[in-house]
Amino acid sequence: MTTSKKDIRALTKEQLRDFFVKEGDQAFRGNQVYEWLWSKGAHSFEDMTNVSIETRQMLEDNFVINHIRVDNMQKSSDGTIKNAVRLHDGLIVESVLIPTKTRTTACVSSQVGCSLDCRFCATSRLKRMRNLNPDEIFDQVVAIDKESRLYHNRPLSNIVFMGMGEPLMNYNNVLKAIDKITSDEGLGMSPKRIVVSTSGVPKMIKKMADDEVKFKLAVSLHSAIDEVRTSIMPFNETFPLADLREALEYWYAKTKNRITYEYVVWKDINDKKKDVEALIEFCKFAPSKVNLIEYNPIDDGEFQQANAEAIDMYVSMLEANHITVTVRRSRGKDIDAACGQLANKS
Ligand code: SAH
Repeated sequence: MTTSKKDIRALTKEQLRDFFVKEGDQAFRGNQVYEWLWSKGAHSFEDMTNVSIETRQMLEDNFVINHIRVDNMQKSSDGTIKNAVRLHDGLIVESVLIPTKTRTTACVSSQVGCSLDCRFCATSRLKRMRNLNPDEIFDQVVAIDKESRLYHNRPLSNIVFMGMGEPLMNYNNVLKAIDKITSDEGLGMSPKRIVVSTSGVPKMIKKMADDEVKFKLAVSLHSAIDEVRTSIMPFNETFPLADLREALEYWYAKTKNRITYEYVVWKDINDKKKDVEALIEFCKFAPSKVNLIEYNPIDDGEFQQANAEAIDMYVSMLEANHITVTVRRSRGKDIDAACGQLANKS
């Protein structure tokens, strides 16, 4: 049923306190309800047992709780779990739990679909339908934290914004969600365990620096040569590498945080020495780390993972230039849960 009632979780704690005062109640009632909504994960007003029945009814008359619902949970043979998450308006996004020996990482979505057009990414085939609200991002994290405790006997340790969507195109809501995730009233997680991954929106990277955010930044670079990058990530035409680099220099000057680059090496696209040289030149202004990620095929074979020699060349040239490099294996491929495979197939 569609409703014109307001989503109660769009209110700040102050707004909720003011609401109760206006209703002739006391401000602390706002704290109580806020705690139910954010710390105790209430799905309905009925759950709020220390609030009177009349007050619960009054809340029911004015607000809704637009909680997400995990519609379909798929488990991979390697322990990865993919959730199809149904939003209050019926749209679906996906989020993934990735366990390793030492950590459990949640990979969460920030938009339904994506407005960018990376040619190797399944999500780009879905047009951007809407931004996720802060509570919808928060709920994905809570759902994965529960699954982590249930299936891996430990709480969630890390979060990456590498699911569907471009987080910096939904910056305000992502920031609000991270505030909730890191606050004691939410999950109390350290921002240092959160990575926001971007295709590179220069203006927003500068804004993040100005906002002095405490979480980490990863940039999906894939090529440091404009013509190559534009051919695989067409929005690079609008946000060319020089602008991206300038924004990253600004970020580094303000935060002194090492910059992480996500990078896939494809056969005949970026697997030559000149590609590595351009990457080294691009990175050298700040301490950097390059994650070489495995390509997860999404289509007819237009893109193919480069061979092992090309990867070895990247590793040895980067290391020789004192750039940290890791080679990442994909997880959850058998359930289409790996990077770039999220496209609501199930
Ligand atoms: N829009 C953000 C976050 C979502 S994509 C970003 O671009 O960073 C998360 C990561 O998966 C990015 O590094 C992206 O480049 C990578 N990716 C997308 N499609 C992929 C594929 N088919 N195989 C491997 N990595 C992919």
